[in-house]
Amino acid sequence: MLPREHQEAIMNIRFLGAARTVTGSCYLLTLPKVKALVDCGFVQGASDARDQNREPFAFDPRDVDFLFLTHAHLDHSGLIPRLVKEGFRGRIITTAATADLLAPMLQDSAKIQEDDAERISRRALRKGGEPVTPLYTPEDVEKVLPLIDRSTYGQIRDTGRGIRCRFVDAGHILGSGSLELWYPGQNGEKKIIFSGDIGRKGTPILNDPTLETEADYVVMESTYGDRLHKNPEDTASELAGAVTSTFQRGGNVVIPAFAIGRTQDILYLLNRLVREGRLQKLTVYIDSPLAEKATKVYLSHPELYDEEARRLIARGGIGDAITIRFTQSAEESMAINRIRSRAVIVAGSGMCEGGRVRHHLKHNLWRPECSIVFVGFQAKGTLGRKIVDGAKIVDIWGEEIAVKARIWTIGGFSAHGDQKELLAWLSAFKSRPTVFVTHGEEEASLAFAGLIRTQYGLKVHVPEPGEEFPLQ
Ligand SMILES: [Zn+2]
Repeated sequence: MLPREHQEAIMNIRFLGAARTVTGSCYLLTLPKVKALVDCGFVQGASDARDQNREPFAFDPRDVDFLFLTHAHLDHSGLIPRLVKEGFRGRIITTAATADLLAPMLQDSAKIQEDDAERISRRALRKGGEPVTPLYTPEDVEKVLPLIDRSTYGQIRDTGRGIRCRFVDAGHILGSGSLELWYPGQNGEKKIIFSGDIGRKGTPILNDPTLETEADYVVMESTYGDRLHKNPEDTASELAGAVTSTFQRGGNVVIPAFAIGRTQDILYLLNRLVREGRLQKLTVYIDSPLAEKATKVYLSHPELYDEEARRLIARGGIGDAITIRFTQSAEESMAINRIRSRAVIVAGSGMCEGGRVRHHLKHNLWRPECSIVFVGFQAKGTLGRKIVDGAKIVDIWGEEIAVKARIWTIGGFSAHGDQKELLAWLSAFKSRPTVFVTHGEEEASLAFAGLIRTQYGLKVHVPEPGEEFPLQ
Protein backbone atom coordinates (compact mmCIF):
# COMPACT_ATOMS: atom_id res chain seq x y z
CA MET A 1 0.00 0.00 0.00
CA LEU A 2 1.31 3.43 -0.90
CA PRO A 3 1.64 6.19 1.68
CA ARG A 4 -1.51 8.34 1.52
CA GLU A 5 0.24 11.46 0.22
CA HIS A 6 1.28 9.55 -2.90
CA GLN A 7 -2.10 8.06 -3.74
CA GLU A 8 -3.36 10.96 -5.83
CA ALA A 9 -0.02 11.51 -7.45
CA ILE A 10 0.74 11.34 -11.11
CA MET A 11 4.32 11.23 -12.15
CA ASN A 12 5.50 13.45 -14.97
CA ILE A 13 8.53 12.85 -17.12
CA ARG A 14 10.36 15.66 -18.85
CA PHE A 15 12.92 14.97 -21.56
CA LEU A 16 15.68 17.46 -20.85
CA GLY A 17 18.38 15.85 -22.97
CA ALA A 18 19.04 13.10 -25.51
CA ALA A 19 15.72 14.06 -27.12
CA ARG A 20 16.03 13.94 -30.92
CA THR A 21 19.79 13.86 -30.39
CA VAL A 22 22.28 11.33 -29.04
CA THR A 23 24.04 13.10 -26.18
CA GLY A 24 23.12 14.99 -23.02
CA SER A 25 20.99 12.24 -21.45
CA CYS A 26 18.84 13.74 -18.71
CA TYR A 27 15.24 12.97 -17.79
CA LEU A 28 13.38 14.62 -14.92
CA LEU A 29 10.71 12.71 -13.02
CA THR A 30 8.35 14.74 -10.88
CA LEU A 31 5.88 13.62 -8.26
CA PRO A 32 4.20 16.16 -5.96
CA LYS A 33 6.79 15.56 -3.25
CA VAL A 34 9.64 13.87 -5.07
CA LYS A 35 11.94 14.89 -7.89
CA ALA A 36 14.36 12.46 -9.49
CA LEU A 37 16.72 12.57 -12.42
CA VAL A 38 17.74 9.73 -14.65
CA ASP A 39 21.26 10.54 -15.89
CA CYS A 40 22.83 13.99 -16.12
CA GLY A 41 25.17 13.95 -19.09
CA PHE A 42 27.20 16.22 -21.29
CA VAL A 43 26.03 17.48 -24.62
CA GLN A 44 28.82 16.46 -26.99
CA GLY A 45 29.66 17.21 -30.58
CA ALA A 46 27.37 20.16 -31.30
CA SER A 47 29.19 23.37 -32.23
CA ASP A 48 27.59 25.07 -29.23
CA ALA A 49 28.04 22.07 -26.88
CA ARG A 50 30.22 24.15 -24.56
CA ASP A 51 27.47 26.74 -24.12
CA GLN A 52 24.74 24.11 -23.81
CA ASN A 53 26.60 22.43 -20.95
CA ARG A 54 26.65 25.80 -19.14
CA GLU A 55 23.00 26.63 -19.63
CA PRO A 56 21.06 26.86 -16.35
CA PHE A 57 19.39 23.58 -15.38
CA ALA A 58 15.65 23.48 -16.10
CA PHE A 59 15.10 22.65 -12.40
CA ASP A 60 16.62 23.65 -9.10
CA PRO A 61 19.30 21.04 -8.27
CA ARG A 62 18.55 21.60 -4.55
CA ASP A 63 15.05 20.17 -5.07
CA VAL A 64 16.20 16.90 -6.63
CA ASP A 65 16.02 13.92 -4.26
CA PHE A 66 17.60 11.19 -6.40
CA LEU A 67 19.79 10.77 -9.41
CA PHE A 68 19.62 7.35 -11.01
CA LEU A 69 22.70 6.82 -13.16
CA THR A 70 22.55 4.17 -15.90
CA HIS A 71 26.29 4.09 -16.68
CA ALA A 72 29.55 5.99 -16.46
CA HIS A 73 29.88 7.40 -20.02
CA LEU A 74 30.12 11.19 -19.91
CA ASP A 75 27.11 11.79 -22.13
CA HIS A 76 25.17 10.29 -19.20
CA SER A 77 27.26 11.46 -16.24
CA GLY A 78 29.35 14.49 -17.27
CA LEU A 79 27.24 17.19 -15.63
CA ILE A 80 26.95 15.52 -12.21
CA PRO A 81 29.72 17.63 -10.62
CA ARG A 82 27.94 20.78 -11.83
CA LEU A 83 24.69 19.45 -10.39
CA VAL A 84 26.35 18.97 -6.99
CA LYS A 85 28.15 22.31 -7.23
CA GLU A 86 24.74 23.94 -7.71
CA GLY A 87 23.21 22.37 -4.65
CA PHE A 88 22.14 18.76 -5.36
CA ARG A 89 22.43 16.85 -2.07
CA GLY A 90 20.37 13.78 -2.87
CA ARG A 91 21.53 10.22 -3.45
CA ILE A 92 23.18 9.06 -6.66
CA ILE A 93 21.91 5.52 -7.09
CA THR A 94 23.95 3.38 -9.47
CA THR A 95 25.78 0.07 -9.72
CA ALA A 96 29.04 -0.54 -7.88
CA ALA A 97 31.04 -0.93 -11.11
CA THR A 98 29.61 2.32 -12.47
CA ALA A 99 30.60 4.00 -9.23
CA ASP A 100 34.15 2.63 -9.58
CA LEU A 101 34.41 3.93 -13.15
CA LEU A 102 32.74 7.24 -12.36
CA ALA A 103 35.44 8.57 -10.02
CA PRO A 104 38.36 8.44 -12.52
CA MET A 105 36.04 9.40 -15.36
CA LEU A 106 34.83 12.61 -13.69
CA GLN A 107 38.31 13.48 -12.39
CA ASP A 108 39.60 13.23 -15.94
CA SER A 109 36.70 15.33 -17.18
CA ALA A 110 37.43 17.99 -14.53
CA LYS A 111 41.05 18.21 -15.69
CA ILE A 112 39.88 18.66 -19.28
CA GLN A 113 37.49 21.40 -18.09
CA GLU A 114 40.35 23.17 -16.32
CA ASP A 115 42.68 22.89 -19.32
CA ASP A 116 39.98 24.17 -21.67
CA ALA A 117 39.18 27.11 -19.40
CA GLU A 118 42.86 27.97 -19.16
CA ARG A 119 43.32 27.90 -22.93
CA ILE A 120 40.18 29.95 -23.58
CA SER A 121 41.16 32.41 -20.86
CA ARG A 122 44.63 32.91 -22.33
CA ARG A 123 43.10 33.70 -25.72
CA ALA A 124 40.47 35.99 -24.18
CA LEU A 125 43.05 37.89 -22.13
CA ARG A 126 45.25 38.43 -25.18
CA LYS A 127 42.24 39.99 -26.89
CA GLY A 128 41.57 42.21 -23.88
CA GLY A 129 38.62 40.06 -22.69
CA GLU A 130 37.78 38.34 -19.42
CA PRO A 131 39.05 34.92 -18.25
CA VAL A 132 36.54 32.08 -17.93
CA THR A 133 36.12 29.63 -15.06
CA PRO A 134 36.06 25.86 -15.61
CA LEU A 135 32.66 24.16 -15.62
CA TYR A 136 33.91 22.22 -12.61
CA THR A 137 37.16 21.26 -10.91
CA PRO A 138 38.63 18.09 -9.33
CA GLU A 139 37.51 19.52 -5.94
CA ASP A 140 33.90 19.62 -7.20
CA VAL A 141 34.22 15.96 -8.23
CA GLU A 142 35.36 15.05 -4.70
CA LYS A 143 32.00 16.32 -3.42
CA VAL A 144 30.13 13.97 -5.78
CA LEU A 145 31.66 10.75 -4.51
CA PRO A 146 30.14 10.66 -0.97
CA LEU A 147 26.63 10.94 -2.50
CA ILE A 148 26.96 7.68 -4.43
CA ASP A 149 24.78 4.82 -3.26
CA ARG A 150 25.95 1.49 -4.71
CA SER A 151 23.57 -1.15 -6.00
CA THR A 152 24.02 -4.55 -7.54
CA TYR A 153 22.19 -5.96 -10.52
CA GLY A 154 18.85 -7.46 -9.61
CA GLN A 155 18.59 -5.80 -6.21
CA ILE A 156 15.26 -4.02 -5.65
CA ARG A 157 15.78 -0.84 -3.65
CA ASP A 158 13.12 1.17 -1.88
CA THR A 159 14.00 4.86 -1.94
CA GLY A 160 11.53 5.43 0.89
CA ARG A 161 9.79 8.11 -1.14
CA GLY A 162 7.23 6.07 -3.04
CA ILE A 163 9.67 4.90 -5.72
CA ARG A 164 11.41 1.54 -5.90
CA CYS A 165 14.23 0.82 -8.31
CA ARG A 166 16.32 -1.98 -9.74
CA PHE A 167 19.18 -2.14 -12.22
CA VAL A 168 19.65 -5.05 -14.60
CA ASP A 169 22.71 -5.64 -16.81
CA ALA A 170 22.45 -3.67 -20.07
CA GLY A 171 25.64 -5.24 -21.51
CA HIS A 172 26.90 -1.87 -22.83
CA ILE A 173 29.97 -1.16 -20.68
CA LEU A 174 31.05 -2.51 -17.31
CA GLY A 175 28.37 -1.66 -14.74
CA SER A 176 25.86 -0.38 -17.30
CA GLY A 177 22.25 -0.90 -16.40
CA SER A 178 18.72 -0.68 -17.60
CA LEU A 179 16.76 0.98 -14.82
CA GLU A 180 13.39 -0.25 -13.63
CA LEU A 181 11.34 2.17 -11.54
CA TRP A 182 8.08 1.43 -9.76
CA TYR A 183 6.09 4.52 -8.88
CA PRO A 184 2.57 5.43 -7.72
CA GLY A 185 0.29 5.72 -10.75
CA GLN A 186 -3.32 6.71 -11.10
CA ASN A 187 -4.62 3.19 -10.40
CA GLY A 188 -1.95 1.65 -8.26
CA GLU A 189 1.71 1.03 -8.79
CA LYS A 190 3.14 1.45 -12.30
CA LYS A 191 6.48 0.62 -13.82
CA ILE A 192 8.74 2.52 -16.18
CA ILE A 193 11.94 1.12 -17.65
CA PHE A 194 14.82 3.24 -18.89
CA SER A 195 16.77 1.10 -21.31
CA GLY A 196 20.00 3.03 -20.74
CA ASP A 197 22.41 2.30 -23.56
CA ILE A 198 21.63 -1.19 -24.80
CA GLY A 199 24.64 -3.37 -25.55
CA ARG A 200 25.04 -6.09 -28.13
CA LYS A 201 24.77 -9.81 -27.99
CA GLY A 202 28.15 -11.53 -28.00
CA THR A 203 30.37 -8.50 -27.33
CA PRO A 204 33.73 -9.17 -25.71
CA ILE A 205 33.99 -9.39 -21.92
CA LEU A 206 30.41 -8.47 -20.98
CA ASN A 207 27.18 -10.40 -20.69
CA ASP A 208 24.40 -9.93 -23.21
CA PRO A 209 21.79 -7.29 -22.36
CA THR A 210 19.09 -8.49 -19.98
CA LEU A 211 15.71 -8.78 -21.65
CA GLU A 212 12.83 -7.05 -19.91
CA THR A 213 9.31 -8.40 -20.12
CA GLU A 214 6.99 -6.12 -18.21
CA ALA A 215 6.45 -2.35 -18.03
CA ASP A 216 3.83 0.34 -18.51
CA TYR A 217 6.30 2.75 -20.07
CA VAL A 218 9.68 2.32 -21.74
CA VAL A 219 12.23 5.03 -22.46
CA MET A 220 14.46 3.55 -25.08
CA GLU A 221 17.68 4.50 -26.82
CA SER A 222 17.87 4.50 -30.62
CA THR A 223 21.48 5.38 -31.49
CA TYR A 224 21.49 2.79 -34.27
CA GLY A 225 17.72 2.70 -34.74
CA ASP A 226 18.09 3.02 -38.51
CA ARG A 227 21.16 0.85 -39.13
CA LEU A 228 22.57 -2.64 -38.91
CA HIS A 229 26.05 -3.56 -37.70
CA LYS A 230 28.43 -5.94 -39.37
CA ASN A 231 28.82 -9.26 -37.65
CA PRO A 232 31.63 -9.65 -35.10
CA GLU A 233 33.74 -11.97 -37.29
CA ASP A 234 33.80 -9.43 -40.16
CA THR A 235 34.83 -6.83 -37.60
CA ALA A 236 37.78 -8.93 -36.44
CA SER A 237 38.88 -9.57 -40.04
CA GLU A 238 38.61 -5.89 -40.92
CA LEU A 239 40.72 -4.89 -37.93
CA ALA A 240 43.33 -7.52 -38.81
CA GLY A 241 43.32 -6.22 -42.41
CA ALA A 242 43.70 -2.59 -41.34
CA VAL A 243 46.66 -3.36 -39.06
CA THR A 244 48.44 -5.70 -41.50
CA SER A 245 48.17 -3.41 -44.53
CA THR A 246 49.26 -0.35 -42.55
CA PHE A 247 52.31 -2.13 -41.19
CA GLN A 248 53.19 -3.27 -44.72
CA ARG A 249 53.11 0.37 -45.88
CA GLY A 250 55.37 1.30 -42.96
CA GLY A 251 52.85 3.37 -41.00
CA ASN A 252 51.09 3.50 -37.65
CA VAL A 253 47.51 2.69 -36.78
CA VAL A 254 45.72 5.31 -34.68
CA ILE A 255 42.49 4.22 -33.05
CA PRO A 256 40.44 6.97 -31.37
CA ALA A 257 38.53 5.19 -28.65
CA PHE A 258 36.57 5.85 -25.50
CA ALA A 259 38.76 5.05 -22.52
CA ILE A 260 35.98 3.03 -21.00
CA GLY A 261 34.61 0.04 -22.85
CA ARG A 262 35.96 0.40 -26.34
CA THR A 263 39.63 0.44 -25.32
CA GLN A 264 39.18 -2.82 -23.41
CA ASP A 265 37.29 -4.37 -26.35
CA ILE A 266 40.11 -3.49 -28.74
CA LEU A 267 42.79 -4.92 -26.47
CA TYR A 268 40.76 -8.08 -26.10
CA LEU A 269 40.30 -8.47 -29.87
CA LEU A 270 43.90 -7.62 -30.86
CA ASN A 271 45.08 -10.14 -28.31
CA ARG A 272 42.76 -12.77 -29.76
CA LEU A 273 43.92 -12.04 -33.34
CA VAL A 274 47.58 -12.41 -32.38
CA ARG A 275 46.84 -15.54 -30.44
CA GLU A 276 45.03 -17.01 -33.46
CA GLY A 277 48.01 -16.17 -35.71
CA ARG A 278 46.00 -13.68 -37.76
CA LEU A 279 48.27 -10.82 -36.69
CA GLN A 280 51.96 -10.76 -35.90
CA LYS A 281 53.02 -9.89 -32.39
CA LEU A 282 52.56 -6.19 -31.85
CA THR A 283 52.75 -3.37 -29.35
CA VAL A 284 49.68 -1.40 -28.41
CA TYR A 285 50.17 2.01 -26.85
CA ILE A 286 47.26 2.98 -24.64
CA ASP A 287 47.83 6.70 -24.45
CA SER A 288 45.32 7.59 -21.82
CA PRO A 289 45.78 7.60 -18.05
CA LEU A 290 42.01 7.24 -17.82
CA ALA A 291 42.02 4.12 -20.01
CA GLU A 292 44.65 2.59 -17.73
CA LYS A 293 42.50 3.28 -14.66
CA ALA A 294 39.38 2.02 -16.42
CA THR A 295 41.18 -1.16 -17.49
CA LYS A 296 42.07 -1.76 -13.83
CA VAL A 297 38.41 -1.31 -12.84
CA TYR A 298 37.46 -3.83 -15.56
CA LEU A 299 40.00 -6.26 -14.17
CA SER A 300 38.65 -5.80 -10.64
CA HIS A 301 35.11 -6.91 -11.58
CA PRO A 302 35.46 -10.43 -13.03
CA GLU A 303 32.07 -11.27 -11.51
CA LEU A 304 30.51 -9.21 -14.30
CA TYR A 305 32.27 -11.02 -17.19
CA ASP A 306 30.65 -13.39 -19.64
CA GLU A 307 31.68 -17.04 -19.92
CA GLU A 308 34.26 -16.49 -22.69
CA ALA A 309 36.11 -13.76 -20.78
CA ARG A 310 36.14 -15.86 -17.63
CA ARG A 311 37.69 -18.75 -19.55
CA LEU A 312 40.31 -16.45 -21.06
CA ILE A 313 41.21 -15.04 -17.65
CA ALA A 314 41.57 -18.56 -16.36
CA ARG A 315 44.03 -19.30 -19.20
CA GLY A 316 46.30 -16.33 -18.53
CA GLY A 317 44.61 -12.99 -19.03
CA ILE A 318 43.10 -10.74 -21.64
CA GLY A 319 46.42 -9.26 -22.79
CA ASP A 320 48.88 -12.17 -22.76
CA ALA A 321 49.74 -12.32 -26.51
CA ILE A 322 50.36 -8.62 -27.18
CA THR A 323 52.61 -6.03 -25.57
CA ILE A 324 50.60 -3.28 -23.90
CA ARG A 325 52.25 0.01 -23.00
CA PHE A 326 50.33 2.47 -20.87
CA THR A 327 51.60 6.04 -20.96
CA GLN A 328 51.16 8.22 -17.92
CA SER A 329 53.10 11.44 -18.43
CA ALA A 330 52.89 13.95 -21.26
CA GLU A 331 56.56 13.13 -22.04
CA GLU A 332 55.77 9.45 -22.53
CA SER A 333 52.85 10.45 -24.71
CA MET A 334 55.02 12.68 -26.87
CA ALA A 335 57.60 9.93 -27.21
CA ILE A 336 54.99 7.91 -29.12
CA ASN A 337 54.93 10.67 -31.72
CA ARG A 338 58.50 9.77 -32.64
CA ILE A 339 57.50 6.22 -33.59
CA ARG A 340 57.14 6.18 -37.36
CA SER A 341 55.80 2.70 -37.99
CA ARG A 342 54.31 -0.50 -36.61
CA ALA A 343 52.62 1.05 -33.59
CA VAL A 344 48.97 0.64 -32.72
CA ILE A 345 48.03 3.77 -30.78
CA VAL A 346 44.76 3.82 -28.87
CA ALA A 347 43.82 7.18 -27.39
CA GLY A 348 40.77 9.21 -26.43
CA SER A 349 38.53 10.87 -26.97
CA GLY A 350 36.57 8.51 -29.15
CA MET A 351 35.15 11.28 -31.31
CA CYS A 352 38.50 13.19 -31.39
CA GLU A 353 36.93 16.10 -29.56
CA GLY A 354 39.64 16.34 -26.93
CA GLY A 355 42.30 14.30 -25.23
CA ARG A 356 45.59 12.98 -26.49
CA VAL A 357 44.29 11.47 -29.72
CA ARG A 358 44.51 14.91 -31.30
CA HIS A 359 48.31 14.85 -30.92
CA HIS A 360 48.45 11.49 -32.66
CA LEU A 361 46.17 12.68 -35.45
CA LYS A 362 48.41 15.69 -35.93
CA HIS A 363 51.44 13.41 -36.36
CA ASN A 364 49.85 10.64 -38.42
CA LEU A 365 46.84 12.01 -40.30
CA TRP A 366 48.90 13.64 -43.07
CA ARG A 367 51.01 10.50 -43.70
CA PRO A 368 49.55 8.28 -46.48
CA GLU A 369 51.23 5.18 -45.02
CA CYS A 370 49.26 5.50 -41.75
CA SER A 371 45.71 4.49 -40.92
CA ILE A 372 43.09 6.00 -38.66
CA VAL A 373 40.64 3.35 -37.57
CA PHE A 374 37.29 4.59 -36.25
CA VAL A 375 35.58 2.03 -34.06
CA GLY A 376 32.77 4.04 -32.55
CA PHE A 377 29.86 6.31 -33.26
CA GLN A 378 30.92 9.76 -34.50
CA ALA A 379 28.34 12.41 -33.62
CA LYS A 380 27.55 15.26 -35.97
CA GLY A 381 29.94 18.19 -35.67
CA THR A 382 32.83 16.25 -34.11
CA LEU A 383 36.31 16.14 -35.61
CA GLY A 384 35.92 12.38 -35.94
CA ARG A 385 32.74 12.79 -37.99
CA LYS A 386 34.47 15.30 -40.31
CA ILE A 387 37.28 12.84 -41.02
CA VAL A 388 34.87 9.94 -41.53
CA ASP A 389 32.77 12.10 -43.86
CA GLY A 390 35.80 12.61 -46.10
CA ALA A 391 37.22 16.03 -45.14
CA LYS A 392 40.47 16.66 -47.05
CA ILE A 393 41.81 19.10 -44.49
CA VAL A 394 40.92 19.43 -40.81
CA ASP A 395 41.72 21.99 -38.16
CA ILE A 396 43.61 20.75 -35.09
CA TRP A 397 44.35 23.49 -32.56
CA GLY A 398 44.25 26.16 -35.26
CA GLU A 399 46.58 24.25 -37.60
CA GLU A 400 45.43 22.85 -40.93
CA ILE A 401 46.26 19.17 -41.24
CA ALA A 402 45.82 17.27 -44.53
CA VAL A 403 43.91 14.00 -44.35
CA LYS A 404 46.15 11.59 -46.31
CA ALA A 405 46.08 8.56 -44.04
CA ARG A 406 43.75 5.70 -44.90
CA ILE A 407 40.47 6.11 -43.00
CA TRP A 408 38.70 2.97 -41.81
CA THR A 409 35.31 2.84 -40.18
CA ILE A 410 34.81 -0.48 -38.47
CA GLY A 411 31.20 -0.36 -37.32
CA GLY A 412 30.95 -3.79 -35.74
CA PHE A 413 32.64 -2.64 -32.54
CA SER A 414 29.73 -0.60 -31.41
CA ALA A 415 28.68 -1.04 -27.80
CA HIS A 416 25.13 -0.24 -28.91
CA GLY A 417 22.66 -2.70 -30.31
CA ASP A 418 21.73 -2.12 -33.94
CA GLN A 419 18.20 -1.83 -35.29
CA LYS A 420 17.64 -5.58 -35.23
CA GLU A 421 19.01 -5.95 -31.70
CA LEU A 422 16.96 -3.00 -30.42
CA LEU A 423 13.82 -4.55 -31.89
CA ALA A 424 14.72 -7.90 -30.32
CA TRP A 425 15.08 -6.18 -26.94
CA LEU A 426 11.64 -4.64 -27.34
CA SER A 427 10.02 -7.82 -28.61
CA ALA A 428 10.78 -9.55 -25.29
CA PHE A 429 8.04 -7.51 -23.60
CA LYS A 430 4.90 -9.43 -22.76
CA SER A 431 3.07 -6.24 -21.71
CA ARG A 432 2.25 -3.48 -24.22
CA PRO A 433 4.19 -0.47 -22.95
CA THR A 434 4.04 3.06 -24.30
CA VAL A 435 7.47 3.73 -25.74
CA PHE A 436 9.46 6.97 -25.69
CA VAL A 437 12.25 6.81 -28.26
CA THR A 438 15.27 8.90 -27.28
CA HIS A 439 19.09 8.94 -27.52
CA GLY A 440 19.39 8.94 -31.29
CA GLU A 441 19.87 11.48 -34.04
CA GLU A 442 16.45 12.62 -35.15
CA GLU A 443 16.33 10.52 -38.33
CA ALA A 444 17.34 7.38 -36.41
CA SER A 445 14.79 7.95 -33.63
CA LEU A 446 11.94 8.67 -36.08
CA ALA A 447 12.80 5.67 -38.25
CA PHE A 448 12.92 3.41 -35.22
CA ALA A 449 9.66 4.81 -33.80
CA GLY A 450 8.01 4.10 -37.15
CA LEU A 451 9.16 0.48 -36.99
CA ILE A 452 7.81 0.05 -33.47
CA ARG A 453 4.44 1.37 -34.60
CA THR A 454 4.19 -0.83 -37.68
CA GLN A 455 5.73 -4.01 -36.27
CA TYR A 456 4.26 -3.98 -32.76
CA GLY A 457 1.41 -1.48 -32.92
CA LEU A 458 2.61 0.13 -29.70
CA LYS A 459 2.00 3.74 -28.75
CA VAL A 460 5.25 5.61 -29.48
CA HIS A 461 6.52 9.13 -28.83
CA VAL A 462 9.71 10.74 -30.02
CA PRO A 463 9.89 13.56 -27.47
CA GLU A 464 11.05 17.04 -28.40
CA PRO A 465 13.71 18.57 -26.17
CA GLY A 466 12.02 19.80 -23.01
CA GLU A 467 8.73 18.01 -23.73
CA GLU A 468 6.80 16.68 -20.72
CA PHE A 469 4.37 13.76 -20.43
CA PRO A 470 2.19 12.48 -17.57
CA LEU A 471 2.86 8.86 -16.66
CA GLN A 472 -0.50 7.53 -15.57
ZN1 LIG B 1 27.10 4.80 -23.29
